[in-house]
Amino acid sequence: MNIDLKNKKTLLIIAAVVIVGILLIVLLAGGGLDLPSGDLPGNDTQGGLPVITEAPTSAPDVPGTSPATDAPSNTPTEAPTEAPTEAGTQPAGFDLAAIPPFSDVPFAVVNDNVPFFTEADMVPKSFETYGDLDSLGRCTTCFACVGKDLMPTDERGDISKVYPTGWVQNYYSFVEQEALYNRSHLIGHQLTGENDNKKNLITGTRYMNADGMIPFENMVADYVLETNGHVLYRVTPIFEGNNLVAAGVLMEAKSVEDNGEAVEYCVFCYNVQPGVKIDYKTGKNEADGTGGYIDKPVTFVLNFNSGKYHTPGCSDIASISEKNVRYWYGTEEELLLAGYVPHTKCNK
Ligand SMILES: [Zn+2]
Repeated sequence: MNIDLKNKKTLLIIAAVVIVGILLIVLLAGGGLDLPSGDLPGNDTQGGLPVITEAPTSAPDVPGTSPATDAPSNTPTEAPTEAPTEAGTQPAGFDLAAIPPFSDVPFAVVNDNVPFFTEADMVPKSFETYGDLDSLGRCTTCFACVGKDLMPTDERGDISKVYPTGWVQNYYSFVEQEALYNRSHLIGHQLTGENDNKKNLITGTRYMNADGMIPFENMVADYVLETNGHVLYRVTPIFEGNNLVAAGVLMEAKSVEDNGEAVEYCVFCYNVQPGVKIDYKTGKNEADGTGGYIDKPVTFVLNFNSGKYHTPGCSDIASISEKNVRYWYGTEEELLLAGYVPHTKCNK
């Protein structure tokens, strides 16, 4: 197709006039908005256009404002130099005396299941801190904002050289894998990749580690892996007096980007082992004569591997591998809180 040269020229001239007009408008508007006249340093201009300094897109961390409204996708990856809350102390408001005695359910809900975090803690930035050992060599608080960038990419390393306080190991036939004590990670390896960090390992019973802590830890890992978001996560061992073995651990978690919509809990996991009497002062232990048998009706049967729970008569239970079977003596609400899901087709 032929294009008339004269028409093309006219069009070019009109276009040039329009562009110059737009530039003038931008220049005037920009100057009026941002830069008072007479206060224009020469190097703040480029080709006659003022450089408009942009307002910060995200406000600095201000306590009392809801971080949930900040853009969650804009998440810096570098850790801050300090944790928002001082490590090494148990949260004000937690009282061990208010925890009911262990009664065959591995955890108790604390503070209506609301963690003791402050609003200022709820920042979607990964960090991890491990409190210093106290004067007795005991672990203190471990605190993290778990993001994918902290998660390990390699296999767990050797932790057998660490001897946490109260480590008096014994073996019982009725304990899963027989060893009473596990070197229990306060913040699990799957979350922040810590191996033999002695500030992160306590003497914990098999029961506390496997039945108590791991389901809650898995909820944190699942959220981070599924959403690429962050979970504020704090685990504090609770020692009575000068005892070398913790009575239990306080676990607090809250998903950051959705302000706790997906993950929010505050629980105390008992450092007990059914069938074993533990001297918490020293870590010494002996069988209590019950053989780990709990004289109570089983309310549900768990498949620890799939995370599903069944009514005790369900015929599917027979197909669960023995090492993954757990018996539950508590309520369904507690199971749901611990992250288990119902087997929807339980059949008797
Ligand atoms: Zn079932």
